[in-house]
Amino acid sequence: MSDTGKPIISFENVTKRFGKMVAVDDVSLTIAEGEFFCLLGPSGCGKTTLLRMLAGFETPTEGRILIDGKDISSIPPNKRPVNMVFQSYAVFPHMTVAENVGYGLKVDRVPAGERERRVEEALALVQLEGLGARKPDQLSGGQRQRVALARALVKRPRVLLLDEPLSALDAKLRDQMRTELSSLQEKVGVTFIMVTHDQDEALALATRCAVMNRGLLQQVAPPNDLYEFPNSRFVADFIGQVNLFEGALVVDEPDHAIIKSPEIEADIFLDHGVTGAKGSTVWAALRPEKIELHKRGPGSPLPSIDDAPAGANAVPGVIHQEVYLGSESVYEVEIAGGRRIKVSRSNLTRWDQEDFAVGEEVWLFWHACSPAVLLS
Ligand code: ATP
Repeated sequence: MSDTGKPIISFENVTKRFGKMVAVDDVSLTIAEGEFFCLLGPSGCGKTTLLRMLAGFETPTEGRILIDGKDISSIPPNKRPVNMVFQSYAVFPHMTVAENVGYGLKVDRVPAGERERRVEEALALVQLEGLGARKPDQLSGGQRQRVALARALVKRPRVLLLDEPLSALDAKLRDQMRTELSSLQEKVGVTFIMVTHDQDEALALATRCAVMNRGLLQQVAPPNDLYEFPNSRFVADFIGQVNLFEGALVVDEPDHAIIKSPEIEADIFLDHGVTGAKGSTVWAALRPEKIELHKRGPGSPLPSIDDAPAGANAVPGVIHQEVYLGSESVYEVEIAGGRRIKVSRSNLTRWDQEDFAVGEEVWLFWHACSPAVLLS
């Protein structure tokens, strides 16, 4: 759990079955007050079902869900201190923006004066001041999504549940709304729990993420830890790009370790131990941006392996392909034995950098601290 804030939500051994299908499998998880928590995972992994159980739209087959330490199983959805924003903005087309935002308050019989004040407050929060009289079809996609957010926030929930809230927006707008969502959460201080299958979105927004696979929680950690210290091949591969090398852990000392992989001629050196896993099959996970490319062929400034930086692993290869992506280029480098390794290089100073052509001989260097070692 986050070390700030006190626990607000606890899932205790929650399982949900639909017939024989296990959608959520024995999930235990605590979320702290004020967190921006993301549930992340591929389609069908159970993240929406977990959220829907919290909202009260589904009932756990086993286990308990607590809010503020109290079991909420007997509380109907509309009485829970949570509110949900759906993927398809779900605004009423025949109502004005203000009527949409105030609808829940009207149902709760909040007096007209207070309702009006709170609607205005909520519209200001999502930067829609002055647009209360418009109909949804007079708004852009991003503005409609903000109406849905205002409608959820106006009821002052303790927890806001967001089910893929940005997925219906185009890439540019999604980027902009991402920033807005983040500052909105900081402003209102409400606990946000967001479901997404977009890892960039989760990394950008979350204080912590839970990665799910086939109903199981694979890892719960802050974005940076998920990326740098994934606990399994599944997480390493799901979050960002990665080169995975299967091998045997042949040396495992407190301050260094060596992996021998049949996919790579040179041993993979690590500057740390791997907690007593010597002899077992492991996977070295190496991110493309942690590998340096240097020229190797005739006349190159680094003709021999002895020129590699201290502490570096060095492997010779040949450029197979370059994909130019604007801010970076991704190279596929073929090493002896035919394995292709992805290497990314920032184009920040491209004007001043060495160019690499397809077919060119190169060195791949990476530091002994760079690979993450995975046991499963
Ligand atoms: P997506 O990203 O595609 O929305 P998800 O990770 O949110 O996927 P869920 O919607 O939670 O996944 O579904 C988990 C599993 O449970 C899926 O196999 C789905 O088909 C199944 N499922 C969900 N709701 C029901 C239901 N009402 N009846 C039967 N099966 C269901």
